[in-house]
Amino acid sequence: WLTLPNPYGIPVDICAGDDVPLEPAAVTEALTLLDTAATLDRLAEAAPGYDGPAPRITRVALTPDLHKGAGIPIGTVLETEHALLPQAVGNDVNCGMRLEVTTLRADRVRPRLDALERRLRHLFFEGGRRIALTPAQREGLLRDGLPGLLLTGATPWPGVLPEDAEDGLDRVHASGYPAETAEAFADWIGSAGGASHDSVIGGIGGGNHFAELQYVSEVHDAAAAHAWGLTPGTVVTMVHSGSLSLGHQANATALDRLRAAWPAGLPRPRNGILPFLLDERSGPARRRYLDAFGNAANFAVGNRFFLALAMRAGLAAECGGMASRLLYDAPHNLFWRGGDRIVHRKGATPAGGHAAMAGGPYAMWGEPVIVPGSMGAASFVLRGRGDPRTLASACHGAGRRVPRGASARGNDAELDAFLRNFRVVTPLDHRDPVVARRSDVLAAWRRDLKQEAPWAYKDIGPVVASLDGGGVAAPVAELRPLLTVKG
Ligand code: 5GP
Ligand code: MN
Ligand code: MN
Repeated sequence: WLTLPNPYGIPVDICAGDDVPLEPAAVTEALTLLDTAATLDRLAEAAPGYDGPAPRITRVALTPDLHKGAGIPIGTVLETEHALLPQAVGNDVNCGMRLEVTTLRADRVRPRLDALERRLRHLFFEGGRRIALTPAQREGLLRDGLPGLLLTGATPWPGVLPEDAEDGLDRVHASGYPAETAEAFADWIGSAGGASHDSVIGGIGGGNHFAELQYVSEVHDAAAAHAWGLTPGTVVTMVHSGSLSLGHQANATALDRLRAAWPAGLPRPRNGILPFLLDERSGPARRRYLDAFGNAANFAVGNRFFLALAMRAGLAAECGGMASRLLYDAPHNLFWRGGDRIVHRKGATPAGGHAAMAGGPYAMWGEPVIVPGSMGAASFVLRGRGDPRTLASACHGAGRRVPRGASARGNDAELDAFLRNFRVVTPLDHRDPVVARRSDVLAAWRRDLKQEAPWAYKDIGPVVASLDGGGVAAPVAELRPLLTVKG
């Protein structure tokens, strides 16, 4: 643990072991964020007629995968009172991880990876996904989240909708963010009478988003692993995706409104961070933002649901009789409101202890914490310990070693070695002879893939050791990739 002293007297704690490289630019960015404490004071004074309680930043925590973001580092947990910071959530609203445990063993899947690769490429990238939704289902999802989709009664993916979909809702951290309307996304909802094919939902999104088949390679906590079905050799699917373009749209609109409504005469904050005061009279603008934000968050949880169904469909078709059960779905770009207190997580995942999980399926072991490494390294499942210094949060990945863009390093030989050892399904099949003749296309593909190569990310070992040593979360099981689908 490292505590960052600051002139505002705000508790700022970093959980990071000695062998986790801390990016100086990210630490500087975290300190700059604290200047928003002064912005809040000035804003409360300048906002016409504001007579609410003083807005404050009450705590900041930084997770071991901390890296520089656009104004606020990824890996930041921020607690405020009476103020909301859209930028402390991240643009990809409700980006998160979903982990399902299948009844398959790794040795059943390994010999079928070629066929699986073809089928998954078709499902994800060649129009093989036939998700049909009615406008009522789309609106139900945007307004009420996963319950809104599932309770419409229809089966969005015939033959694959899991029987446990509805009771699985208690294994989703944030299954619904009820909104009053879904007007911001009327275009997506559409008005066609019956069900129609939807090519948007169930998409992976680009870059660091993925759907991955993994197997349990090692168990670190036998009792919890057993309880969660994570026995050695078990095949699991891990899905990482967010709200595609919806979250970006919600946040961009919020920032435009904040800029437009900024009190005349009050200089714009130097750190570029524009907060909302949670004052009832900021009425309609805030309401519209909260609705659009909720719609985007709800879309994201539905998107992960469909991504997992596509993985189920692929596995069932190639590997025969199988079942798959949700272990957990957890968001890492979201805010949580409890009265006047708001916890924002930007690239940080909830890690509640067993006490906070009372009454649910995780009362015994604590909240599952999903920490992916990279498509060429181990990922981990841990159990949360509800540490108050991180506001019960952990990191959501290993974190980039160097910023995106700068990381297109590594030569082609390294990439080839990686591709010989790991299976990556992308829209482009690099082994297809037709593709192989297009050197320009292949070069662009390699450049993109290097951004996601294992060497672009930190080592997962020290990151997980920091969570364990810091008392934030305890490792339960280690997972290794069998196949990764990347957009
Ligand atoms: P985010 O993009 O949400 O900031 O971070 C996601 C995290 O997922 C990264 O920090 C990285 O450790 C991890 N990650 C990125 N790509 C992959 C992948 O293809 N497979 C796995 N298992 N992990 C990944
Ligand atoms: Mn995302
Ligand atoms: Mn993410």
